[in-house]
Amino acid sequence: MTFHARHLLGIEHLSPLDITTLLDLAEQYVTLNRARNKHTDVLAGLTQINMFFENSTRTQASFELAGKRLGADVMNMEVAASSIKKGETLIDTALTLNAMHPDLLVVRHPQSGAVDLLAQKVNCAVLNAGDGRHEHPTQALLDALTIRRAKGRLHRLTIAICGDIAHSRVARSNILLLGKMESRLRLIGPPTLIPSGAADWGVEVYDDMAEGLRDADVVMMLRLQKERMDGGFIPSGREYYHRYGLDAAKLSHAKPDAIVMHPGPMNRGVEIDGTIADDINRSVIQEQVEMGVAVRMAAMDLLARNLRAGPVEVMV
Ligand code: ASP
Repeated sequence: MTFHARHLLGIEHLSPLDITTLLDLAEQYVTLNRARNKHTDVLAGLTQINMFFENSTRTQASFELAGKRLGADVMNMEVAASSIKKGETLIDTALTLNAMHPDLLVVRHPQSGAVDLLAQKVNCAVLNAGDGRHEHPTQALLDALTIRRAKGRLHRLTIAICGDIAHSRVARSNILLLGKMESRLRLIGPPTLIPSGAADWGVEVYDDMAEGLRDADVVMMLRLQKERMDGGFIPSGREYYHRYGLDAAKLSHAKPDAIVMHPGPMNRGVEIDGTIADDINRSVIQEQVEMGVAVRMAAMDLLARNLRAGPVEVMV
């Protein structure tokens, strides 16, 4: 096993070998999760605290289940009811939690960089569950596992990421991961939702779905991140759907066996047509959720092994 990271803060810090190691271990957890007895004691005696400063359904539930199946003591900190609302700073909250000796801290925060900052103040392993528009590493890893299982590989695939790229941490982590694994990446969206400079990332950029989806193996749809928009980025929901919403006509430009992905939460009739999302021959959206638990188990298992190996000099 080669995975020496102390924290999982972003895909940015992982090598292709780290990624493969993590995905291979996650495969074992997929098998365990499908068995009747889903329990192991890999994290027995360890304490996992989940701190979500931003709403989450899938990610929080997935991390909680992952920790419980691995035998950790799992605590969900209710941020809405916590001292944060009374004006405590993130660092003070981190120091308070640190005094309770957690081993794994899972953090989601609306500000890019907040999770990295917190990781510098605590003694335990920190997992980034999404920070602002920066990174969402476990999402990209679960997406990679889903793609690898469907297509048998990650390299030399044509992968189209469509929609609100500019505000999406999912897009950013996926671009980093799939680039490291040598996939061919296309970004498709209205120019207002494509970050300036994207053309320098080694990706192809399109503003037309038919062109961008041509012969794609994987079509990844993204939600419009309205909570991160401070102005009008799209003319109207209806026009956005017309031009960028994935329906059967637009999907017909991709390869006949192209898979459709979405990290959720989905807005049917905005970025994706409901019948495409529910088409079990094309959509792997439910499999993404399943892979999420396995990938988070693998990530926490690997970080716990590194914790047990003693203090690590390097931060990542
Ligand atoms: N659930 C993903 C995230 O937290 C995607 C989304 O919210 O659109 O970034």
